[in-house]
Amino acid sequence: MSLVFISHPNCALHDVGNEHPESPERLDAINDRLITSGLDFSLVKLQAEPATKQHLYRVHDQSYVDEIFAKTPEHGMVHLDDDTQMMPRSLDAALYAAGANIMAVDKVMSGEAKQAFCAVRPPGHHAERDKAMGFCIFNNVAVAAAHAMEVYGLERVAIIDFDVHHGNGTENIFFDDPRVLFCSSYQYPFYPHNVGPGNAHILNLPLPPGTDGDSWQEAITEQWLAKIDAFAPQLVLFSAGFDAHFEDDMAHFKLVETDYHWITKEMKKIADKHCGGRMISTLEGGYNYSALGRSVAVHIKAMMD
Ligand SMILES: [Zn+2]
Repeated sequence: MSLVFISHPNCALHDVGNEHPESPERLDAINDRLITSGLDFSLVKLQAEPATKQHLYRVHDQSYVDEIFAKTPEHGMVHLDDDTQMMPRSLDAALYAAGANIMAVDKVMSGEAKQAFCAVRPPGHHAERDKAMGFCIFNNVAVAAAHAMEVYGLERVAIIDFDVHHGNGTENIFFDDPRVLFCSSYQYPFYPHNVGPGNAHILNLPLPPGTDGDSWQEAITEQWLAKIDAFAPQLVLFSAGFDAHFEDDMAHFKLVETDYHWITKEMKKIADKHCGGRMISTLEGGYNYSALGRSVAVHIKAMMD
């Protein structure tokens, strides 16, 4: 069974200007690298369908979702927070980004695919139940987890967030839901700043600026791997941000492609053991185009092999 690669041209239509690091060119960089690496031909490519309001209401307040629909401008731009804007096509992009995650769950849970990668934007992991934040409008990975639990009855879903920023939105949405084991490694102190200690099923792993791959792998091995294995996930989700890469100026970690290969393989061992290898990865951050393309290719290949 192949890996399904899910995206949609509408995800490129959210464009809030050349100064913004979360740009449509990020998806081009991924596609270009998949072609030059030869990986492109091994993927089953699917076009996402848009998420419905009902999909979004599972993880966001109804009033928040309705407000986002109502705020979509006909012209110009509206600001949802200091660094999150909406232009006329942003809602479309956000709906297809969330919808890709619905499709990914359906494909993997039905057995049509073993793994899926959602090449989508805007990203999602900072979006809280009732708040857009940090480039994120709807929380895509949370939409996937909620769909898997509600439609397929899963009781244990692991979300591994290796973006350099804490996944505050995902923590906020699942803080009181022990069916989700949420693991987030991130630079601290750093945006989004007010990170709490988590709880028994929210495993926050703050690491200092300058963290390199060896110390990152060591911390994850010590603090996460046995707990994720003991949780025995029925589905493994990645919030796959690649802004912890050494070449990415957004933050100050020193990860390289081999580190993304490592975390993917460690999670694949757990997925193979507990859930027939079912894994879904959705794009979060990653702003250096070359490093992003290379890292995604390595990550996808490690999921497939
Ligand atoms: Zn990030």
